[in-house]
Amino acid sequence: MEYIYCKRIPFFSKNLYIPSNATNSYKVREGKRVHKERAQNQSEYLRKKIGVIDKKVDDYLFSSRYNISGKVDEVLFLDNGQAAALDYKYSMFKGKVADSYKLQIVFYSILIEENYDLPVNKGYIVYIRSNNRLEEIELIDEDYSNFFDAYQGLSNIINNNYFPEQTTYSIRCEECSYRKICCI
Ligand code: SF4
Repeated sequence: MEYIYCKRIPFFSKNLYIPSNATNSYKVREGKRVHKERAQNQSEYLRKKIGVIDKKVDDYLFSSRYNISGKVDEVLFLDNGQAAALDYKYSMFKGKVADSYKLQIVFYSILIEENYDLPVNKGYIVYIRSNNRLEEIELIDEDYSNFFDAYQGLSNIINNNYFPEQTTYSIRCEECSYRKICCI
């Protein structure tokens, strides 16, 4: 979901076919490494806390309905017959779950619902840099509506070659591999 991070990134990567080397940054690599460790070590903790009876790690899912795909850090199968996405973030919890994180959880939830035919009403984020704090997100209609707004926006970029506005978070540009061609 590069679009959530900055709308211009999918324009460069999908419309102009300029590959991003964002995955080379230290932050991303470190996040992935710690994420792998946590995926292996947190099963029992999660089982007790939120009723997990099974899970799939690094589950690559595709939605034929929306033509979207993504890899979910963990798909959790709960003892109430529902499923949920769990995402590890190499960041600190700052009082509320960021809208971009929520959108990502909705994105994963849509993939899970379609692939496993199970209801998904919640999602989870582990904030690695806040001592692995676990935050639960109750998914509401507004979250889905925000996701589909983003989905329409991304479709507009890809299908109509629309050049979108820059991110308003200038700190993101500091780590972006497109910063030299982005005219900012
Ligand atoms: S440099 Fe900034 S505005 Fe441009 S694509 Fe990267 S994050 Fe977006």
